[in-house]
Amino acid sequence: MNNVGEFLKTNGIKPSYQRIKIYEYLMNNREHPTVEGIYSALNGQIPTLSKTTVYNTLKIFIDKGIAMAITIDENESRFDAQMDMHGHFKCEHCHKIYDFKVNFENALEDELDDFEILDQQMFFYGICKHCREKS
Ligand SMILES: [Zn+2]
Ligand SMILES: [Zn+2]
Repeated sequence: MNNVGEFLKTNGIKPSYQRIKIYEYLMNNREHPTVEGIYSALNGQIPTLSKTTVYNTLKIFIDKGIAMAITIDENESRFDAQMDMHGHFKCEHCHKIYDFKVNFENALEDELDDFEILDQQMFFYGICKHCREKS
């Protein structure tokens, strides 16, 4: 994406410097960062940044549908700017969250035909191959 500012604007978000930086970070760091992670990564470049700003900015992104919160672990929210349908695999060992492709269309049977689906998430837990190779 060449112009994050334009992208934010077309999604009804005023493209402040901090918002652009936070969105760029999400796009470029696909490891599903936490508020803490985003804050500590950008704090050096944006001295006026606060954790509250990061949190509020992510909330706006989610409201406008350009990012999502993943609550794979109850006590930490992680964020993702990849909006196409995909599943998440969390490694219990290194705590990384991996994306994997999943076809939700085929996964849904008729049982939910008359339901309104607001969110679709698929979580797997386990040990990733990198950790398995090490042990
Ligand atoms: Zn791992
Ligand atoms: Zn993801």
